Amino acid sequence: MSDPGKEFPEGMIPLKDSKFAFECHSGVACFTSCCKDVNITLYPYDVIKLKSSLGMDSEDFMREHSYLVQGDNPFFPAVKLKLGDDREKSCPFLNNKGCSVYRERPSACRTYPLERAVDRMAVKGESEEFYFMTNHPYCLGHKEEKEFTVDSWIRNQQLIEYNSMNALWVAVDTLFAANPWKGEGAGGEKQQLAFMVCYNIDGFRRFAGEYQLIKQFKIEKDFKRRIAREDGELLKFGFEWLKAILTGRSSLIKR
Ligand code: SF4
Ligand code: SF4
Repeated sequence: MSDPGKEFPEGMIPLKDSKFAFECHSGVACFTSCCKDVNITLYPYDVIKLKSSLGMDSEDFMREHSYLVQGDNPFFPAVKLKLGDDREKSCPFLNNKGCSVYRERPSACRTYPLERAVDRMAVKGESEEFYFMTNHPYCLGHKEEKEFTVDSWIRNQQLIEYNSMNALWVAVDTLFAANPWKGEGAGGEKQQLAFMVCYNIDGFRRFAGEYQLIKQFKIEKDFKRRIAREDGELLKFGFEWLKAILTGRSSLIKR
């Protein structure tokens, strides 16, 4: 998978096909330790899954459960999960039984104890992913007997759909990192539209309806139906629409 000549930060060795021992269950003494004082990046698809699971409007979800930081991308903010204000800074979705949003938990929680890194390779418009093993001494899951490879972990944690949506997001975020705002700067009209598409899907659905956005493009009936039903499909459309308005290059064809 990886380029043998690629350099990684010291101590970080990408996992390839090797096996690792790990299991997390309610019987481990450290159960839920990793859900406190934790730094979780939320990707656009995470927000869709979480807000749907909680029955919230995406705008309300973002206001209540997220905050913005300057991440790797100097021209677009990253979104983090807001932790509780208790002494342990617990994840707001943690209850006495464990994770209350387990079926819709974010990509980062699914991926743990692995960490995923993406080489954006923006020039070629492709990206390559690498997985590393985290090493938190408090995490006793490493002492369990079950064995996984990266691939079997991805399947076990139902990460395939998340990773494929996150790959689309990486391509769009890479575009944002090239400062496509045409002098508008942070918080300009285009960046606000982009933020709405990526993190406020209910707002974007209302916007798309108001401006008859879908009708402006030649879109297959089946995709149109999926867009109408599923927020993830609307997000895919939104990513392509952003590419169209920011670069003029997109898979969407104008009517
Ligand atoms: S610290 Fe590790 S083993 Fe413990 S609950 Fe978290 S992931 Fe599971
Ligand atoms: S979303 Fe669930 S698994 Fe992730 S930190 Fe919160 S409680 Fe833990």
